[in-house]
Amino acid sequence: MRAAFIAVGSELLGIERLDTNSLRMARRLQRYGVSLGRKSVIGDDPTELVTELTSVLGRFDLLIVSGGLGPTGDDRTRESMATACGVGLHLDESIVDDIRRKFDSFGRKMPEVNRRQAYVLDGAKVLENSRGTAPGLQIEQSGTTCFLFPGVPHELDYLASTFLDPWLEEQAGEIQLEATVLKVACRGESAVEEKIASAYDEFGAEAVTVLASPGEVRIELWARGGAKDRAIRLQEMSDRVAGFLGPAVFTRVADQDLEGVCGELLGELGATVATAESCTGGWIAQRLTATPGSSAYFLGSIVAYSNQAKVDLLGVPEDLIAEHGAVSREVAIALAEGARERIGSDYAIGVTGIAGPDGGSEEKPVGTVHVAVAGPRGSGDLIHQRAVFPGDREKVRRLTSQLGLELLRRRLLDPNYRPGGW
Ligand code: AMP
Ligand code: MG
Repeated sequence: MRAAFIAVGSELLGIERLDTNSLRMARRLQRYGVSLGRKSVIGDDPTELVTELTSVLGRFDLLIVSGGLGPTGDDRTRESMATACGVGLHLDESIVDDIRRKFDSFGRKMPEVNRRQAYVLDGAKVLENSRGTAPGLQIEQSGTTCFLFPGVPHELDYLASTFLDPWLEEQAGEIQLEATVLKVACRGESAVEEKIASAYDEFGAEAVTVLASPGEVRIELWARGGAKDRAIRLQEMSDRVAGFLGPAVFTRVADQDLEGVCGELLGELGATVATAESCTGGWIAQRLTATPGSSAYFLGSIVAYSNQAKVDLLGVPEDLIAEHGAVSREVAIALAEGARERIGSDYAIGVTGIAGPDGGSEEKPVGTVHVAVAGPRGSGDLIHQRAVFPGDREKVRRLTSQLGLELLRRRLLDPNYRPGGW
């Protein structure tokens, strides 16, 4: 089976946004052994869109279109598809009612423009979208099954797993290829590669993919075959690679992130955490609180940016800052201890650093950060790590937040953890 994908939206042709929906779709199709034969990005331009749709219809078994189903005049996917298929559009009042109910539930009045989203291609099936206002549409044309989905990624994912996956399973057969994932934080790609090198020989190079993003390395292990064999094989491979990497693996769940893992560990221990953040400006707190249920273990954060705030809000001794500088091991530790004491948590993360682009020196170049975690055993229950991160301000801050969470995780797993080793 062959598929085509069209991303619709003028913003995707500009300088700000990239089409990432096609990557999510490619991954989904790959699992069913469907090959993506063409993907394109088209602006909100009916002429271009009709031309593209016409050229694809009849040539592929499956067509997925994302975007352009919004309520405003620049969203032209519905009309363009109607033209390309030579069918009409009709207003479905039950969809209008449905959209109105969604607005009512937020205490808002439905703007009249949203009626546009209730237009349905004649002969199309309406795909209910519980994550947004625009329903998806499914229509057969010239031997091509077409799915029209909204462009918003989480709505697209919802509609694809609810309507596309069952269709794929019916048409293409069961899932044929599947991956299991392991994730490692705060390690370089090559260091991880080195650790798992023998996996390439054992499983074959095509079964192992290593993907790095700032502060995280994701290892994908792929297996083919029937559901049962595949599950056994994936488990075997995952256990083997987890053995190579040890506790550096923070999760073996594809959509779990580091903050979620920290939350789970804190929950298991019945422990609480707080943060004192200088260079990250509350980013660690933001990440921890992004996880639902975080109120059970996250107590609070103090963003102490100036030296005075560090002294006043967290009790960092003034002479400590004078002697060692605000970006130092001593101050990171004092921040963590101050947060633990003043906020009253079991654990606390303290971070200080030079995010740049200015403020570096020979001794402390831009990217120098100090991260400390204070633990519940009181004075002396501390771990600290210094790092010099590459990249711009955003990246240094992101990597610092990652290091803070990773140190917390390792400390929660092992009360005697010492940073530095693997
Ligand atoms: P739309 O369904 O065209 O109204 O799209 C709504 C929003 O979804 C856009 O403003 C983008 O932020 C996002 N979006 C649309 N298409 C894509 C795409 N192909 N990849 C990533 N994001 C997208
Ligand atoms: Mg759009």
